[in-house]
Amino acid sequence: MSLNGQYDDDNIFAKIIRGEMPCVKVYEDEHTLAFMDVFPQSEGHTLVIPKNEKARNLLEVGPKALGRLIGTVQRISRAVNTALSPDGIVVTQFNGAPAGQTVFHLHMHIIPRYEGTTLGGHASGEMADMDKLNVLAEKIKTAL
Ligand code: 5GP
Repeated sequence: MSLNGQYDDDNIFAKIIRGEMPCVKVYEDEHTLAFMDVFPQSEGHTLVIPKNEKARNLLEVGPKALGRLIGTVQRISRAVNTALSPDGIVVTQFNGAPAGQTVFHLHMHIIPRYEGTTLGGHASGEMADMDKLNVLAEKIKTAL
């Protein structure tokens, strides 16, 4: 899918928001939802999405919703730092398939980096162990 196009109500994150698909939730408020990435690039890889916007990418979101989104990204990043003590945190966001986007509902990645640990592939590899993701999510939640 290109940078420009129609929002698909049946994308996986829209289904997660509607409760039609499960997720390992870290945080939720009226406007945003944070949950564990099921193909984590590193331990603690978390995604943050707006709940009420039909925005596929950064270009399509309203400024208010974007402000709320980045506010939650900061909040979760701080909790990840407290909970997991990474050596660094990468915050990324892709717009359009050629840029690396694979799910077309706006989202931001929070990817903790640990010295000496190689970053896993993007949206690839084996699905994470759900018990492990739940343990990580609990740690992050406790630090919120
Ligand atoms: P993008 O490639 O669009 O920037 O990122 C999409 C992210 O969603 C990828 O990191 C991928 O691992 C993750 N992902 C894909 N399908 C699912 C899913 O069903 N549940 C969760 N929690 N993450 C997903």
